[in-house]
Amino acid sequence: MATCLVTGGAGFLGSHLCDELLRRGHRVICVDNLETGSLHNIEHIRVPEFEFRQLDIIEPYFVDEPVDFVYHLASPASPIDYLRLPLHTLKVGSHGTHHTLGLAKKHRARFLIASTSEVYGDPQVHPQQESYWGHVNPIGPRGVYDEAKRYAEALTMAYHKQQGVDTAIMRIFNTYGARMRAHDGRAIPTFMRQALQDLPITVFGDGSQTRSFCFVSDLIDGMIRLAESGEHFPVNIGNPDEFTLLELAHAVVDVTGSASDIVFEALPTDDPKQRRPDITRAKELLGWEPKVALREGLQRTLDQAGRDALVGHAR
Ligand code: NAD
Repeated sequence: MATCLVTGGAGFLGSHLCDELLRRGHRVICVDNLETGSLHNIEHIRVPEFEFRQLDIIEPYFVDEPVDFVYHLASPASPIDYLRLPLHTLKVGSHGTHHTLGLAKKHRARFLIASTSEVYGDPQVHPQQESYWGHVNPIGPRGVYDEAKRYAEALTMAYHKQQGVDTAIMRIFNTYGARMRAHDGRAIPTFMRQALQDLPITVFGDGSQTRSFCFVSDLIDGMIRLAESGEHFPVNIGNPDEFTLLELAHAVVDVTGSASDIVFEALPTDDPKQRRPDITRAKELLGWEPKVALREGLQRTLDQAGRDALVGHAR
C-alpha cells in the first residue's frame, strides 16, 4: 500500500483519481481549497484510508507522514474558472507547484503534474506530439492558464534536473465524465445540460473546430500508469478520436434523446481550431490507449451522473 497525496482531490478528475487509488488499495491524502471543487465529489468516500485536508496550496504547506506519490492536480481548469480567477490560476501554477514539488522532494516521492494540451495553444502542427513547443499568446485571456502550466512544467523539469526529484509530466487532453460541473462552460457539460432541458445547444463559431474527448476512467488509468512508470518527459494522455463540435452536439442530442435545436454563437478569443493528441509515447511507454468511445462515454456519463446533476440541480 502506497500513500498518495492528491492536490485538487475534490475536483472532477481529482475525485475520480482518489476513488481509483483507494480501489487499488492505496492510502490517499486529499488536499483542496474547494475553490472550484466540492465536498460533494468526495462525500461518498468513507474509509479510514482516505483523509481530506482543506488548504490552499498557494501558501506553504506540509504533510508530516511519509508520502510515496504526489499527484498535483490543483488548478482552476475550465475557461470560466480561470478567466474569473486569473491571478489565482497563475499563483497555483507557480507558488502551488513550487510548494508541492518541495513536498515531493522532502518525502523522496514520485511527483506527477497534471499539465494540459493547452500548453500547445492554438497548434500549428496536427496532431500534437510532445516535441511540439506550442503556439500560445502569453497576454491573451487564456494566457493565464496556458502560461501557468508551461511554467509549472519548466519548474517540474528543473526540480528533476537540479534537485533529483522523480517527476512526471502528463499533458491531459479534454476529459469528460460524471462530476463535471453543469455550468463550467466546457463543451460536453454545456451541451448535456442544454440537451437534457431541450434548450438550444450553443455551438461556438460554425462548429467546425475539432476536439478529442477522453472518458474519465481511461484518463485516470493513464495517469496512474504514468505515475508508476519511470518516465520524466511529457506524455500526452487523451483520446485521439477527433470530432467537430457540431458532431459532438449531434452525438449529445442522440444519446440524451433531446428535442434541442443547434444554434451558433461567436467564437471566443484565441479558441484553438483543432486539437488531437498523438499518443504514440503513451502507447509505447505505458502500454496505454483509451478504451471508451465517445457515444459509450456520453451514455456512461448520463447513467453515472444522473439527469439532475447534469442539469445542475444536484447541488
Ligand atoms: P477542477 O476544477 O474540477 O479541479 C481542480 C481542483 O483544484 C478543485 O477541486 C479546486 O478546488 C482545486 N484547487 C484550485 N486551486 C487550489 C488551491 N490553490 N489550493 C488547493 N486546491 C485548489 O478541474 P479538473 O477538470 O478536475 O482538472 C484537474 C487538473 O487537470 C487541473 O490541473 C487541470 O488543469 C488539469 N486538466 C484537466 C483537463 C480536463 O479536461 N478536465 C484537461 C487538461 C488538464
